[in-house]
Amino acid sequence: KVTASMGVVQCHQLDADRPHAVVEDVMSAADLALYRCKRTGRAGYRFYEHLMRVDLQSEKSMEHELTLALKANKLLLHFQPVFDAKSKRIIGAEALIRWPTDEGFISPAQFIPLAERSGLIADIDLWVLQQILDHCDQLSRKHSDLVLSFNLSAHHFNKHTFTDIIQPLLPRIKRVGPQLALELTERVMFERTEGVIASLHSLRHLGVHISLDDFGTGFSSLSYLTQFPIDKIKIDQSFIKTMHSNTTARAVVQAAAQIGKTLGLVVNAEGVETEEQLAVVSQLGIDEVQGFLFARPMPFDAFLKLLDD
Ligand code: C2E
Ligand code: CA
Ligand code: CA
Repeated sequence: KVTASMGVVQCHQLDADRPHAVVEDVMSAADLALYRCKRTGRAGYRFYEHLMRVDLQSEKSMEHELTLALKANKLLLHFQPVFDAKSKRIIGAEALIRWPTDEGFISPAQFIPLAERSGLIADIDLWVLQQILDHCDQLSRKHSDLVLSFNLSAHHFNKHTFTDIIQPLLPRIKRVGPQLALELTERVMFERTEGVIASLHSLRHLGVHISLDDFGTGFSSLSYLTQFPIDKIKIDQSFIKTMHSNTTARAVVQAAAQIGKTLGLVVNAEGVETEEQLAVVSQLGIDEVQGFLFARPMPFDAFLKLLDD
Protein backbone atom coordinates (compact mmCIF):
# COMPACT_ATOMS: atom_id res chain seq x y z
CA LYS A 1 0.00 0.00 0.00
CA VAL A 2 1.45 3.33 -1.04
CA THR A 3 0.71 6.45 0.99
CA ALA A 4 1.94 10.01 0.72
CA SER A 5 2.87 12.73 3.20
CA MET A 6 2.59 16.35 2.19
CA GLY A 7 3.78 19.69 3.52
CA VAL A 8 1.75 22.67 2.40
CA VAL A 9 2.75 26.32 2.59
CA GLN A 10 0.66 29.36 1.84
CA CYS A 11 2.93 32.29 1.03
CA HIS A 12 1.39 34.69 3.56
CA GLN A 13 2.39 32.22 6.30
CA LEU A 14 6.01 33.10 5.56
CA ASP A 15 5.56 36.77 6.52
CA ALA A 16 6.47 36.02 10.12
CA ASP A 17 9.74 34.41 8.97
CA ARG A 18 10.78 37.20 6.66
CA PRO A 19 8.85 39.64 4.46
CA HIS A 20 9.94 39.15 0.86
CA ALA A 21 10.20 35.36 0.72
CA VAL A 22 12.00 33.80 -2.22
CA VAL A 23 11.35 30.37 -3.70
CA GLU A 24 13.93 28.69 -1.42
CA ASP A 25 12.03 29.97 1.63
CA VAL A 26 8.82 28.47 0.28
CA MET A 27 10.49 25.13 -0.39
CA SER A 28 12.19 25.01 2.99
CA ALA A 29 8.90 25.85 4.74
CA ALA A 30 7.08 23.13 2.78
CA ASP A 31 9.84 20.74 3.72
CA LEU A 32 9.45 21.59 7.41
CA ALA A 33 5.69 21.00 7.19
CA LEU A 34 6.35 17.69 5.41
CA TYR A 35 8.83 16.67 8.12
CA ARG A 36 6.27 17.48 10.82
CA CYS A 37 3.64 15.47 8.96
CA LYS A 38 5.96 12.47 8.86
CA ARG A 39 6.84 12.81 12.53
CA THR A 40 3.20 12.90 13.56
CA GLY A 41 1.95 9.81 11.80
CA ARG A 42 2.55 10.20 8.03
CA ALA A 43 -0.01 9.61 5.31
CA GLY A 44 -1.56 13.06 5.48
CA TYR A 45 -0.73 16.74 5.15
CA ARG A 46 0.33 19.59 7.41
CA PHE A 47 0.22 23.32 6.81
CA TYR A 48 3.38 25.23 7.57
CA GLU A 49 3.35 27.42 10.70
CA HIS A 50 5.97 29.88 11.89
CA LEU A 51 6.25 27.94 15.18
CA MET A 52 7.66 24.96 13.27
CA ARG A 53 10.71 27.06 12.38
CA VAL A 54 11.03 28.36 15.95
CA ASP A 55 10.92 24.73 17.21
CA LEU A 56 13.50 23.66 14.66
CA GLN A 57 15.84 26.47 15.67
CA SER A 58 15.58 25.66 19.37
CA GLU A 59 16.06 21.95 18.61
CA LYS A 60 19.18 22.73 16.55
CA SER A 61 20.62 24.88 19.30
CA MET A 62 19.85 22.22 21.94
CA GLU A 63 21.46 19.60 19.72
CA HIS A 64 24.57 21.78 19.44
CA GLU A 65 24.70 22.25 23.23
CA LEU A 66 24.27 18.52 23.77
CA THR A 67 27.11 17.72 21.38
CA LEU A 68 29.35 20.13 23.29
CA ALA A 69 28.30 18.67 26.66
CA LEU A 70 29.08 15.14 25.49
CA LYS A 71 32.48 16.19 24.10
CA ALA A 72 33.34 18.06 27.29
CA ASN A 73 32.34 15.00 29.33
CA LYS A 74 29.65 17.01 31.11
CA LEU A 75 26.94 14.35 31.01
CA LEU A 76 26.48 12.29 34.16
CA LEU A 77 25.01 8.98 35.16
CA HIS A 78 22.86 8.73 38.24
CA PHE A 79 21.95 5.38 39.75
CA GLN A 80 18.60 4.35 41.15
CA PRO A 81 18.94 1.40 43.53
CA VAL A 82 16.88 -1.71 42.74
CA PHE A 83 15.59 -3.71 45.73
CA ASP A 84 14.59 -7.30 46.27
CA ALA A 85 10.87 -7.06 47.06
CA LYS A 86 11.02 -9.65 49.86
CA SER A 87 14.26 -8.96 51.68
CA LYS A 88 14.34 -5.22 50.79
CA ARG A 89 18.05 -5.61 50.09
CA ILE A 90 19.75 -3.70 47.29
CA ILE A 91 20.39 -6.04 44.38
CA GLY A 92 21.60 -3.51 41.84
CA ALA A 93 20.92 -0.14 40.29
CA GLU A 94 19.66 1.38 37.06
CA ALA A 95 21.86 3.95 35.37
CA LEU A 96 19.94 7.03 34.24
CA ILE A 97 21.62 9.73 32.23
CA ARG A 98 21.67 13.35 33.43
CA TRP A 99 22.50 16.55 31.57
CA PRO A 100 23.37 19.29 34.04
CA THR A 101 23.08 22.86 32.68
CA ASP A 102 23.08 26.32 34.29
CA GLU A 103 19.29 26.08 34.49
CA GLY A 104 19.38 22.67 36.21
CA PHE A 105 19.11 19.14 34.85
CA ILE A 106 17.49 18.66 31.45
CA SER A 107 15.38 15.51 31.50
CA PRO A 108 16.49 12.55 29.36
CA ALA A 109 12.85 12.25 28.32
CA GLN A 110 13.50 15.54 26.50
CA PHE A 111 17.00 15.13 25.10
CA ILE A 112 17.12 11.39 24.29
CA PRO A 113 14.39 11.70 21.60
CA LEU A 114 16.28 14.72 20.22
CA ALA A 115 19.53 12.74 20.20
CA GLU A 116 17.70 9.92 18.41
CA ARG A 117 16.49 12.27 15.70
CA SER A 118 19.91 13.81 15.19
CA GLY A 119 21.91 10.57 15.33
CA LEU A 120 23.87 11.75 18.39
CA ILE A 121 22.35 8.86 20.32
CA ALA A 122 25.00 6.42 19.05
CA ASP A 123 27.74 8.49 20.74
CA ILE A 124 25.66 8.96 23.89
CA ASP A 125 24.87 5.27 24.29
CA LEU A 126 28.49 4.35 23.63
CA TRP A 127 29.50 6.80 26.36
CA VAL A 128 26.91 5.29 28.74
CA LEU A 129 28.15 1.77 28.09
CA GLN A 130 31.77 2.77 28.68
CA GLN A 131 30.84 4.46 31.96
CA ILE A 132 28.86 1.44 33.06
CA LEU A 133 31.79 -0.84 32.34
CA ASP A 134 34.06 1.41 34.43
CA HIS A 135 31.55 1.31 37.28
CA CYS A 136 31.21 -2.47 37.02
CA ASP A 137 34.98 -2.77 37.40
CA GLN A 138 34.74 -0.59 40.49
CA LEU A 139 31.87 -2.63 41.93
CA SER A 140 33.43 -6.00 41.19
CA ARG A 141 36.01 -5.51 43.92
CA LYS A 142 33.48 -5.49 46.74
CA HIS A 143 30.01 -6.02 45.31
CA SER A 144 30.34 -8.36 42.37
CA ASP A 145 26.85 -9.78 43.03
CA LEU A 146 25.14 -6.48 42.17
CA VAL A 147 23.74 -5.85 38.71
CA LEU A 148 23.98 -2.48 36.94
CA SER A 149 21.23 -1.88 34.41
CA PHE A 150 21.58 0.52 31.52
CA ASN A 151 19.21 1.77 28.84
CA LEU A 152 19.92 1.59 25.16
CA SER A 153 17.91 3.43 22.59
CA ALA A 154 15.70 1.45 20.23
CA HIS A 155 17.17 3.63 17.52
CA HIS A 156 20.32 1.49 17.15
CA PHE A 157 18.41 -1.53 16.23
CA ASN A 158 17.00 0.22 13.20
CA LYS A 159 20.29 1.61 12.04
CA HIS A 160 22.41 -1.48 12.65
CA THR A 161 24.76 0.51 14.86
CA PHE A 162 24.21 -1.66 17.91
CA THR A 163 26.73 -4.28 16.87
CA ASP A 164 29.20 -1.52 15.94
CA ILE A 165 28.86 -0.09 19.42
CA ILE A 166 29.28 -3.28 21.40
CA GLN A 167 31.81 -5.02 19.15
CA PRO A 168 34.93 -3.17 20.36
CA LEU A 169 33.71 -3.44 23.96
CA LEU A 170 33.03 -7.18 23.91
CA PRO A 171 36.24 -8.17 25.74
CA ARG A 172 35.30 -5.80 28.57
CA ILE A 173 31.65 -6.88 28.54
CA LYS A 174 32.82 -10.47 28.73
CA ARG A 175 34.74 -9.73 31.93
CA VAL A 176 31.74 -8.36 33.81
CA GLY A 177 28.84 -9.96 31.85
CA PRO A 178 26.61 -11.13 34.71
CA GLN A 179 27.00 -7.75 36.42
CA LEU A 180 25.28 -6.06 33.50
CA ALA A 181 21.63 -5.78 32.47
CA LEU A 182 20.55 -4.22 29.21
CA GLU A 183 17.13 -2.56 29.23
CA LEU A 184 15.22 -2.40 25.98
CA THR A 185 11.70 -1.34 25.13
CA GLU A 186 9.18 -3.33 23.17
CA ARG A 187 9.79 -1.01 20.23
CA VAL A 188 13.14 -2.74 19.70
CA MET A 189 11.55 -6.16 19.66
CA PHE A 190 9.09 -5.05 17.09
CA GLU A 191 11.27 -3.24 14.65
CA ARG A 192 14.15 -5.42 13.55
CA THR A 193 13.57 -8.90 14.70
CA GLU A 194 16.29 -11.10 13.27
CA GLY A 195 19.27 -8.83 13.87
CA VAL A 196 18.05 -8.04 17.37
CA ILE A 197 17.63 -11.67 18.35
CA ALA A 198 21.19 -12.47 17.23
CA SER A 199 22.67 -9.46 19.05
CA LEU A 200 20.75 -10.22 22.22
CA HIS A 201 21.82 -13.86 22.13
CA SER A 202 25.46 -12.89 21.80
CA LEU A 203 25.20 -10.56 24.79
CA ARG A 204 23.33 -13.11 26.81
CA HIS A 205 25.99 -15.62 25.94
CA LEU A 206 28.38 -13.35 27.82
CA GLY A 207 26.10 -13.43 30.85
CA VAL A 208 24.42 -10.06 30.28
CA HIS A 209 20.82 -9.97 31.53
CA ILE A 210 18.19 -8.67 29.11
CA SER A 211 15.25 -6.71 30.50
CA LEU A 212 12.11 -5.59 28.75
CA ASP A 213 11.47 -2.01 29.90
CA ASP A 214 8.13 -0.17 30.11
CA PHE A 215 6.27 -3.45 29.82
CA GLY A 216 2.63 -3.01 28.88
CA THR A 217 2.99 0.28 27.03
CA GLY A 218 4.08 -1.08 23.67
CA PHE A 219 2.53 -3.60 21.38
CA SER A 220 -0.29 -5.93 22.15
CA SER A 221 1.32 -9.04 20.65
CA LEU A 222 3.10 -11.00 23.34
CA SER A 223 4.57 -13.48 20.90
CA TYR A 224 7.98 -11.81 21.11
CA LEU A 225 8.25 -12.93 24.74
CA THR A 226 8.80 -16.43 23.45
CA GLN A 227 11.02 -15.37 20.53
CA PHE A 228 13.44 -13.08 22.35
CA PRO A 229 15.97 -14.04 24.98
CA ILE A 230 14.46 -12.00 27.81
CA ASP A 231 15.26 -12.48 31.50
CA LYS A 232 13.20 -9.76 33.09
CA ILE A 233 10.13 -7.62 32.51
CA LYS A 234 9.83 -4.19 34.06
CA ILE A 235 6.21 -3.18 34.54
CA ASP A 236 5.78 0.40 33.42
CA GLN A 237 5.37 2.87 36.24
CA SER A 238 2.18 4.32 34.77
CA PHE A 239 0.36 1.11 35.78
CA ILE A 240 1.87 1.06 39.27
CA LYS A 241 0.90 4.71 39.72
CA THR A 242 -2.76 4.27 38.81
CA MET A 243 -3.48 0.69 39.88
CA HIS A 244 -5.30 1.79 43.04
CA SER A 245 -7.83 3.91 41.20
CA ASN A 246 -7.91 2.17 37.85
CA THR A 247 -9.03 -1.44 37.57
CA THR A 248 -7.53 -1.84 34.08
CA ALA A 249 -4.11 -0.74 35.35
CA ARG A 250 -4.43 -3.14 38.23
CA ALA A 251 -5.35 -5.95 35.83
CA VAL A 252 -2.25 -5.18 33.72
CA VAL A 253 0.00 -5.38 36.80
CA GLN A 254 -1.58 -8.67 37.82
CA ALA A 255 -1.31 -10.08 34.31
CA ALA A 256 2.34 -9.01 34.01
CA ALA A 257 3.18 -10.67 37.33
CA GLN A 258 1.44 -13.84 36.14
CA ILE A 259 3.15 -13.83 32.73
CA GLY A 260 6.50 -13.43 34.45
CA LYS A 261 5.81 -16.33 36.78
CA THR A 262 4.58 -18.61 34.01
CA LEU A 263 7.49 -17.88 31.70
CA GLY A 264 10.07 -17.97 34.49
CA LEU A 265 11.02 -14.31 34.10
CA VAL A 266 12.05 -11.93 36.85
CA VAL A 267 9.40 -9.23 37.33
CA ASN A 268 10.31 -5.70 38.35
CA ALA A 269 7.84 -3.00 39.44
CA GLU A 270 9.03 0.50 38.65
CA GLY A 271 7.90 3.79 40.15
CA VAL A 272 6.80 2.44 43.54
CA GLU A 273 6.09 5.57 45.56
CA THR A 274 3.77 4.50 48.39
CA GLU A 275 3.43 1.75 50.99
CA GLU A 276 0.05 0.84 49.47
CA GLN A 277 1.65 0.22 46.08
CA LEU A 278 4.38 -1.82 47.71
CA ALA A 279 1.79 -3.95 49.53
CA VAL A 280 0.05 -4.83 46.24
CA VAL A 281 3.33 -5.49 44.45
CA SER A 282 4.50 -7.80 47.28
CA GLN A 283 1.18 -9.58 47.41
CA LEU A 284 1.43 -10.33 43.68
CA GLY A 285 4.82 -11.94 44.26
CA ILE A 286 6.72 -9.40 42.13
CA ASP A 287 10.46 -9.96 42.56
CA GLU A 288 12.07 -6.53 42.39
CA VAL A 289 11.04 -2.98 43.21
CA GLN A 290 12.36 0.40 42.27
CA GLY A 291 10.93 3.80 43.11
CA PHE A 292 11.00 6.95 45.17
CA LEU A 293 9.62 5.06 48.19
CA PHE A 294 13.00 3.34 48.45
CA ALA A 295 15.49 5.62 46.74
CA ARG A 296 15.78 8.27 44.05
CA PRO A 297 18.48 8.19 41.38
CA MET A 298 21.78 9.39 42.90
CA PRO A 299 25.46 9.86 41.95
CA PHE A 300 27.53 6.69 41.90
CA ASP A 301 29.48 7.66 45.04
CA ALA A 302 26.26 8.10 46.98
CA PHE A 303 25.14 4.67 45.76
CA LEU A 304 28.40 3.12 46.98
CA LYS A 305 27.94 4.83 50.33
CA LEU A 306 24.41 3.47 50.59
CA LEU A 307 25.78 -0.03 50.03
CA ASP A 308 28.25 0.40 52.86
CA ASP A 309 25.71 1.87 55.32
P1 C2E B 1 13.02 4.59 32.19
O1 C2E B 1 14.13 3.73 31.68
O2 C2E B 1 11.67 3.99 32.29
O3 C2E B 1 13.53 5.13 33.61
C1 C2E B 1 12.72 5.29 34.73
C2 C2E B 1 12.37 6.74 34.96
O4 C2E B 1 11.49 6.83 36.06
C3 C2E B 1 13.58 7.60 35.33
O5 C2E B 1 13.33 8.89 34.78
C4 C2E B 1 13.48 7.63 36.86
O6 C2E B 1 14.14 8.74 37.44
C5 C2E B 1 12.00 7.69 37.06
N1 C2E B 1 11.55 7.15 38.34
C6 C2E B 1 12.10 6.16 39.07
N2 C2E B 1 11.36 5.92 40.18
C7 C2E B 1 10.31 6.77 40.15
C8 C2E B 1 9.19 7.01 41.01
O7 C2E B 1 9.01 6.38 42.06
N3 C2E B 1 8.32 7.98 40.63
C9 C2E B 1 8.48 8.70 39.48
N4 C2E B 1 7.57 9.64 39.20
N5 C2E B 1 9.52 8.50 38.64
C10 C2E B 1 10.42 7.55 38.97
P2 C2E B 1 14.44 9.68 33.99
O8 C2E B 1 15.76 9.51 34.65
O9 C2E B 1 13.91 11.06 33.78
O10 C2E B 1 14.52 8.91 32.61
C11 C2E B 1 13.48 8.97 31.66
C12 C2E B 1 13.73 8.03 30.51
O11 C2E B 1 14.86 8.44 29.72
C13 C2E B 1 14.07 6.61 30.95
O12 C2E B 1 12.91 5.92 31.28
C14 C2E B 1 14.76 6.08 29.70
O13 C2E B 1 13.81 5.67 28.75
C15 C2E B 1 15.48 7.30 29.18
N6 C2E B 1 16.89 7.23 29.61
C16 C2E B 1 17.44 7.53 30.81
N7 C2E B 1 18.77 7.32 30.82
C17 C2E B 1 19.10 6.85 29.57
C18 C2E B 1 20.32 6.45 28.94
O14 C2E B 1 21.41 6.43 29.54
N8 C2E B 1 20.26 6.04 27.62
C19 C2E B 1 19.07 6.01 26.93
N9 C2E B 1 19.08 5.62 25.65
N10 C2E B 1 17.89 6.38 27.51
C20 C2E B 1 17.90 6.80 28.81
CA1 CA C 1 14.84 1.74 32.07
CA1 CA D 1 10.78 2.00 32.51
